[in-house]
Amino acid sequence: MLACGLKGAVAGAAVETQQWLSRRSREMAITRVWIEEGCTMCGLCSDNCPDVFKLDEDAETAKVVEGADLAANEDTIKESAEDCPEEVIKFEEA
Ligand code: SF4
Repeated sequence: MLACGLKGAVAGAAVETQQWLSRRSREMAITRVWIEEGCTMCGLCSDNCPDVFKLDEDAETAKVVEGADLAANEDTIKESAEDCPEEVIKFEEA
């Protein structure tokens, strides 16, 4: 009987933790995006998220589109950062 109670408490704590993480994740918003040195102009980010990333042929690097709507593109920004082969796409959340 005691073991059942303990199992229930552990399961309850796990659910509460998951709900807290989910809420926290929803509350976080991308506030800044930038590209560090090392971009190889593969074009993956500008293909995946053209509203935020563009290739600058003159500077030979991808750039963040000025005034891009970060909130509307959060998922694709995160995907682009994850998929960037050079791992040079960075962002801050607050
Ligand atoms: S995905 Fe990375 S390496 Fe490719 S263009 Fe974008 S920033 Fe550059």
